[in-house]
Amino acid sequence: MPAGRPFTITTPIFYPSDVPHIGHGYTEVAADVLARWHRQAGDDTWLLTGTDEHGQKMLRTATANDMGPREWADRLVQQAWLPLLETLGIANDDFIRTTQPRHEQGVAAFVQRLYDTGFIEAGDYEGYYCVGCEEYKQTSELVTGTGRYEGQLVCAIHSIPVELLSERNYFFRMSQFTDRLLALYEERPDFVQPESARNEVVSFVKQGLADLSISRSSFDWGVQVPWDDRHVVYVWFDALLNYITAIGFDGDEATLNRRWPAVHLVGKDILRFHAVIWPAMLMAAGLEVPRQVFAHGWLLVGGEKMSKSKLTGIAPASITDVFGSDAFRYYFLRAIPFGQDGSFSWEDLAARYQAELANGFGNLGSRVIAMIGRYRDGVLPAAGEASERDLGIREVVRASAVEADLAIERMAPHEAIAAIWRIVEELNGYLTLEEPWALAKQPEQAGRLDAVLATAAEGLRALAVLLSPVMPKACGKLWTALGAEGSLGLLADQPIRAAGDWGQLPAGTRTAPLEPLFPRIEQEVLSA
Ligand SMILES: [Zn+2]
Repeated sequence: MPAGRPFTITTPIFYPSDVPHIGHGYTEVAADVLARWHRQAGDDTWLLTGTDEHGQKMLRTATANDMGPREWADRLVQQAWLPLLETLGIANDDFIRTTQPRHEQGVAAFVQRLYDTGFIEAGDYEGYYCVGCEEYKQTSELVTGTGRYEGQLVCAIHSIPVELLSERNYFFRMSQFTDRLLALYEERPDFVQPESARNEVVSFVKQGLADLSISRSSFDWGVQVPWDDRHVVYVWFDALLNYITAIGFDGDEATLNRRWPAVHLVGKDILRFHAVIWPAMLMAAGLEVPRQVFAHGWLLVGGEKMSKSKLTGIAPASITDVFGSDAFRYYFLRAIPFGQDGSFSWEDLAARYQAELANGFGNLGSRVIAMIGRYRDGVLPAAGEASERDLGIREVVRASAVEADLAIERMAPHEAIAAIWRIVEELNGYLTLEEPWALAKQPEQAGRLDAVLATAAEGLRALAVLLSPVMPKACGKLWTALGAEGSLGLLADQPIRAAGDWGQLPAGTRTAPLEPLFPRIEQEVLSA
């Protein structure tokens, strides 16, 4: 068992009837990069993702497809959602489906606990319900429809008519938690991040919270309310519980204590569920609230939020088929400040691929490995005495590694990558100034050439370790080419917080040829 401090991170569980688009891919990749970094830092890391399979919307789409909801979900998970993880190189530790017994049992136990302690009570409710959102909407969240819904009240998010529902339901007494939640946001400013998200949540809760209807009796696709079999648990109440049912709630106390509380990555459209309802539920059950709820921004394509309903959905595989999964991972985490909205364009992706990955990082690796092969028969020379410039490279590597780790701690992977990229830029500049190809023609400069090759190789070693959470495939190839597998062990076992320590690649290490890490992409493919 890893001895490090615990780090559990989650993505939202996705609704499987949606076709995975790059917005889902972005969340998965961000969580995976953070998890890989922590794992490689020796933290006791757990990455949880999964699917949200109950609710009326799921039942309706299954019925429309002539299938039972369970069968429909099985098919979507197998054909779309598990393959998405494969496409993007996600190293998740678990995949929870809300139709699994471990989850359904946990949900039943949780609601029973709140019923027994008086936090869930029966009551009457009438309100406007959006099937797209699976929630009752306030009138302030509705607009007047246009086009085929002219004159009707429609959901502002989905642009579809809401239904006026009246139900005798069970209610979660969320109104009792207004003050405790405000105290939480006050005492732990990092609980909701970034700052814009925190401000939105605080001002929402300050208006006071209403009780939440948490059961439905108009359909039966969900977890049955244990004391009343005419009701199923409201799908959001059910779904949020995945974060603890997956890690041992109601059965495995030791695992729950080890893995909980978690960091939740969410899109900002589901922020309130995670930063208001969810901590209130946990408080009611006497459990710890999450470590943090971090809302990332939206991906915009032509200025519109990426989603299937807006017809701007782009399948992640359409990007990875051309550029590879490493480039997908790098691009979205580098180009978009984490927590803000970001625009996606094929032109920007292609330009960064060429300039930063192929010409910047990839070419650096190829050149250094090729020169060690050509000038030193593939055997890493001893560095000898370090010049001022050599020492400058060591300092950049050391400082960048420290800076990158601090950036990850504050949930800023874009800043971590930028810090690491200084090593790429400095090393490329170093080679231009040192001109090892010219040194190679002067036998009296053999010692200097050794120093330059050894310095560059050691810089590449640090890059392979520091970039492996972002680009595991390319860094694995670079690692093997550096010969490091034999002398230093597996890349995945390299402690990332020691990556900046100089002199880990021993003289005499045998390098191996390196294929281009980011092959040239033909112009026809890009313009297709
Ligand atoms: Zn809606």
